[in-house]
Amino acid sequence: MDSMEIDYLIIGQGLAGSLLAWELIQRQKKIIIVDNAKENASLMAAGLINPVTGMRWVKSENVDLLLPVALAYYQKLARHFQQQFYVEKTLRRVISTEKDLAAAKKRQQQIAYQPYLSQNIGVDSTLYAPWGLINQKQTGYLLCKPLLTALKNYFIAHQAYIKAEINYQDIHLSQQLHWKKWRPKHIIFCEGHHATHNPWFSWLPFQPVKGEIITATATQAIPQTILNYGHWFIPLSTYQFRTGATFDRIQLDTQISTAAKETLLTSLKKVMPTLSINPEIRQEAGIRPTTLDKQPFIGHHPKHPELIIFNGFGAKGSLQIPWYCQCLANNLMYNQAIPENSHIMRYASLSL
Ligand SMILES: Cc1cc2nc3c(=O)[nH]c(=O)nc-3n(C[C@H](O)[C@H](O)[C@H](O)COP(=O)(O)OP(=O)(O)OC[C@H]3O[C@@H](n4cnc5c(N)ncnc54)[C@H](O)[C@@H]3O)c2cc1C
Repeated sequence: MDSMEIDYLIIGQGLAGSLLAWELIQRQKKIIIVDNAKENASLMAAGLINPVTGMRWVKSENVDLLLPVALAYYQKLARHFQQQFYVEKTLRRVISTEKDLAAAKKRQQQIAYQPYLSQNIGVDSTLYAPWGLINQKQTGYLLCKPLLTALKNYFIAHQAYIKAEINYQDIHLSQQLHWKKWRPKHIIFCEGHHATHNPWFSWLPFQPVKGEIITATATQAIPQTILNYGHWFIPLSTYQFRTGATFDRIQLDTQISTAAKETLLTSLKKVMPTLSINPEIRQEAGIRPTTLDKQPFIGHHPKHPELIIFNGFGAKGSLQIPWYCQCLANNLMYNQAIPENSHIMRYASLSL
């Protein structure tokens, strides 16, 4: 069997592996991306980008930097594939309590929040929102599945895709790094939450979180803005919508559950009491590769620098991955520093 010299072997064709592979191919690098087509969080994710979240209405870290890069990136991909991947849509956040209202009003006064929050507290008689609503700006969602499908076809066309399970014991570090006939200069691990089983990177403090999402149709026309009321509601068409997502840190599997279905539908019915839903619904479960400090895990293994991790994008992959894949590409090509907040060496004391 002839050996094949390549620059990078990328493991995992989720959003992280896909955008990184695309970025490196654009930079004339020879890559192979391997995926087992098993549990892919990106394929079922909602792809929501929401710059201001949480009970304290806090801006996502570095959002002023990350968001324009992400939007430009998805626009560039849209031009290449002649297909739109990002849907820009206003998000209406339901204010849930008096305390929530006070927090929202405080943010409305702050200049740093003005690009993301409207100044009004709105009302809408079709929604249960006794404390009002605020329109959030610069929100929308990534069509993750169409994007990953387009990229997979692109990798196949460039002889850069292999459908296979990588067993870690088949990766050999001695002499020259290789997996089967492939001899990459580096291996980049992008296995999502499966990284917790990776013998070289499992020391990193991942905190995976299961989530479930429902896709359904209503019997009447639905509101055409995204809603956030603790859970979210995303209109996909006049009648079809998605709602999610649950957070479960204990039951880390990809089985759908009746408890999650109840939670999501009860929460939706509370905010939209007149909504009537067709009984056929689709329910999906996946696991977010979340980390202890909610920041990504990027960097070279401390003892085996030819092994690299690009992971830990948690619930914010759509916002973060475009910028960080360029950071990693710049590190690989020009030795540019990996941003400190995402560099795995912040946890060096945990490494073996
Ligand atoms: C319910 C839910 C809702 C979400 N909602 C949002 C959202 O609204 N907005 C947002 O930005 N993000 C959201 N996310 C998070 C988002 O999905 C992640 O940030 C992102 O998808 C992570 O992508 P990834 O490529 O790291 O992992 P994944 O998408 O999981 O990809 C990893 C891939 O590697 C493959 N793999 C693993 N091990 C091996 C191996 N040994 N050999 C071969 N292949 C392997 C897996 O099968 C998989 O295909 C959500 C996630 C979930 C689960």
